[in-house]
Amino acid sequence: MSIKKIAIAIDGPAGAGKSSISKVVANKLHYLYIDTGAMYRAVTWAVLHEHLDVHNQKAVERLLKTLDLAMEATETGCKVYIRGEDVTEFLRQPKINDNVSIIASYKGVRQYLVERQQAMAEVGGVILDGRDIGSVVLPKAELKIYLTASVEARAKRRWLEVQGTPNELPLEAIQRSVTERDEMDKNRKESPLVQVAEAILVDSSDMTFDETVTHILSLVEERVNCE
Ligand code: C5P
Repeated sequence: MSIKKIAIAIDGPAGAGKSSISKVVANKLHYLYIDTGAMYRAVTWAVLHEHLDVHNQKAVERLLKTLDLAMEATETGCKVYIRGEDVTEFLRQPKINDNVSIIASYKGVRQYLVERQQAMAEVGGVILDGRDIGSVVLPKAELKIYLTASVEARAKRRWLEVQGTPNELPLEAIQRSVTERDEMDKNRKESPLVQVAEAILVDSSDMTFDETVTHILSLVEERVNCE
């Protein structure tokens, strides 16, 4: 593949496989991968850890001043630190899933995280995944992808992922949580989840993980060759 390095924005609804696919694509391309969802999850973790009311926007935004949130990209994915503590292993808990969309709807939280995401992306050769990457974080990204799948397929994948882990839940509960999160993310005032006009739609409902990775790599190659 050409050595020209581009910025890639991958947006889409919950459980579409954005993080796991982006991680593999980034490793293959030797790109930096930034899991922006993990940053919203880490803020949510801190809010719950401090026993703040998630509906108290002012208190949540005040907390940001003392968070000292840091990201570290590793071969196995992104690690997130709050005040020097690695909180990555706590970020997939159901209580985080249940509250993260509330925290992500706050303007101050988004400003705080978007600033950090844009600073990290300045190195070039990056893949960022989230909800507002193509629209707000990297509006000039050379390749924008909207990765989705049917809600049934997304819930089933999440369910398989959490089997045998402390985050295990019945399939119906996972599907409900995914649907609720999507509703909030699509309907919020600040940077809602949208498919921007220039984003290429990838519907992975009937694709395997490897097929999706191969398809996205081919989109990258096409775009790099056009640059
Ligand atoms: O991608 P992930 O499912 O980990 O994201 C968790 C939540 O963080 C989303 O449901 C959304 O509320 C929020 N988020 C966001 N903007 C992003 C990434 C995530 O609002 N760029």
